[in-house]
Amino acid sequence: MHILDIFKSTPTTFSFEFSPPRNETSAQELYPAIAELEELKPNFVSVTYGAGGSTRNSTHDLVVTLKDGGQLDPVPHLTTVCHSRSEIDSILLRYAQHGISNIQALSGDPPKNMPGYDRSNDAFRYAADLVSHISEFNRSGVHPDPRGFGIGVGGYPEGHPATPNRLLEIDYLKAKVDAGANYIVTQLFFDNHDFYDFRERCELAGIDVPIIAGIMPIITSKNLARMSELALGIHYPAKLLRAIQRCDGDETAVRRVGIHWATEQCRDLLDNKIRGIHFYTFNRSTATREIYTSLGVKDSRVLAGIR
Ligand SMILES: Cc1cc2nc3c(=O)[nH]c(=O)nc-3n(C[C@H](O)[C@H](O)[C@H](O)COP(=O)(O)OP(=O)(O)OC[C@H]3O[C@@H](n4cnc5c(N)ncnc54)[C@H](O)[C@@H]3O)c2cc1C
Repeated sequence: MHILDIFKSTPTTFSFEFSPPRNETSAQELYPAIAELEELKPNFVSVTYGAGGSTRNSTHDLVVTLKDGGQLDPVPHLTTVCHSRSEIDSILLRYAQHGISNIQALSGDPPKNMPGYDRSNDAFRYAADLVSHISEFNRSGVHPDPRGFGIGVGGYPEGHPATPNRLLEIDYLKAKVDAGANYIVTQLFFDNHDFYDFRERCELAGIDVPIIAGIMPIITSKNLARMSELALGIHYPAKLLRAIQRCDGDETAVRRVGIHWATEQCRDLLDNKIRGIHFYTFNRSTATREIYTSLGVKDSRVLAGIR
């Protein structure tokens, strides 16, 4: 369903993020997790795109498998790094032909395994350039929906590390919306005040598209350390770190603390008229399901207040 129709149909969207499986073992873990999360009836699920286009085919394959399964509405991520204009066009065409309704347009991080990589060779430098291009593609009439793809972009409540100037950064975010983005999904955050302040700054800048909050429950100490590398600049509140320290290496306790923290974040976001919550699932189902259970609901429709 086009994202504009999704937002019309519900006051709050719920969505889950998956990554394409890297091998047979991760595929064997992923598909049961997807089946379990299906029961929570998310409005859409998104599928990540590996750095430098490394999962170009596996992202496509997972998206098409989910679409053909008929139960989930997949949104592929697409990044500009290492891509020519014609490669991007052929990816868009394939998704349009499969009736994929929405795309998450990103610039992507430079690939780690390509030391001589020169970004100036890419057809599109910033996500705003990719959004403009998708908007142009949408006007070509190739997509079965006359509006073309709905377009999502990334937002950073605590700022993106490449732009220390926080005023400029909001201008760049606005440029993505002006180029045709229909919604924003944020980077994960652990302090809701950072999100609320970001939401207000967007409003002041005239950014009027829905902003979906990215939530990642901490499930292990290793996962916490890994996120501080992947999502550079993320602020870990002392209260959260203290609660984890108290676990004294007991990983079951760390998991309980992490899931409790994420549950309280969701409860507070729901009380503050959030437009959507996006769960970074790391291809696991249990943490997200436990959050739903603790919030006292069976599926996303009840969570959104639709009975
Ligand atoms: C919801 C979400 C999903 C993600 N999924 C993926 C994924 O699947 N695969 C992946 O590889 N990465 C993914 N990422 C990570 C993301 O690609 C990186 O954080 C990347 O560095 C920024 O992407 P962007 O689309 O926000 O970039 P952009 O909007 O292009 O911004 C990148 C940086 O450039 C700055 N900038 C923008 N425009 C200009 C300009 N005109 N002049 C100067 N500076 C400018 C911005 O302020 C920012 O610092 C995701 C991030 C989010 C929030």
